[in-house]
Amino acid sequence: MNLARFPRRRYTEGATPMERLSRLSGLVGGPEIWIKRDDLLGFFPGGNKTRKLEFLMADALSKGADAVVTCGAVQSNHCRLTLAAAKKEGLECHLVITEQVPGSYSPHASGNNFLFQLMGVDSVTVVPGTSDPSAETSKVADRLRAAGKTPYVIPVGGSTPVGSLGYVACAEEILSQAFDKGLAFDRIFTTSGSAGTHAGLAVGLWANRADIPLTGINIGAPNAVQVPAVQKLAADTARLLGIGEPFPAGSIDCRDGYIGQGYSLPSEAMLKAVVLLARTESVLLDPVYTGKAFAGMLDLIQKGFCRKGEKVLFVHTGGFPALFHYQKYFDSELFQK
Ligand SMILES: *Cc1c(COP(=O)(O)O)cnc(C)c1O
Repeated sequence: MNLARFPRRRYTEGATPMERLSRLSGLVGGPEIWIKRDDLLGFFPGGNKTRKLEFLMADALSKGADAVVTCGAVQSNHCRLTLAAAKKEGLECHLVITEQVPGSYSPHASGNNFLFQLMGVDSVTVVPGTSDPSAETSKVADRLRAAGKTPYVIPVGGSTPVGSLGYVACAEEILSQAFDKGLAFDRIFTTSGSAGTHAGLAVGLWANRADIPLTGINIGAPNAVQVPAVQKLAADTARLLGIGEPFPAGSIDCRDGYIGQGYSLPSEAMLKAVVLLARTESVLLDPVYTGKAFAGMLDLIQKGFCRKGEKVLFVHTGGFPALFHYQKYFDSELFQK
């Protein structure tokens, strides 16, 4: 596998830190828990989309694009980071926002919505949550083409084979850092959403014959939907890489018991996990993805999924700005004790 064959822009200086969560591990009393700080990726406050965008923006530029179009939920980190990358490259950025709850997007709201405005988004098209994202982004792209622009469409979450290369690269970064630190991980945990992060890590670990099991914690879809989605994207990514051997069937591990009431809806376990990590390790998780994924990992550890003395790595995928948008949900955890 030779990632250097693919055009890439660089949005982060060097590798993100890999830290041991000593106080938390002591409290939990199970495996030694480490964290990969991909919340410290470029375009502060960065996140997993920063890695995908290194390859996606390079692809857009190589195709002569002067505008990007993408789609996401109301408080989308992906939309905000795509906007950041576009502005940095001098391209226009047009967003399609899907509203799960009618009227929930407001240009005056906080979190990422404020940042859309601050960073000078070129247009925001709000559509109902039931809309087909690819049809909606195509419409915007057609409009731009009619106006003489050359748009590049990035699907939800940047989860194409090209975008997933960012997490193939991350798997290699993890392996080389672990080797430097003399660390042999027994398991890696990640969030599993639009699947690019999970699929990229899976392909990177497999192609390097790392033999480290990878567990994805679903944040929206049940396993019946999520497992085939990750499997397909992993297979397509392996093919793009030209590995010459198909990505093995049946090798994706997803857990769908930690979604709560639904995608982006707060759960009690999420609130507790966010507060716990903030107060033991001064690491801030987010309410939509990493809070639920971390809660899932802690529950699995409690149930004996990982043995004492094992070393596990949690990949922190970012999402910091949404924390402020969810402030009111934390009041019960913070003040009613
Ligand atoms: C998008 C996102 C995820 C999910 O990653 P996918 O590659 O879409 O599965 C996880 N965490 C954060 C903070 C995100 O913004």
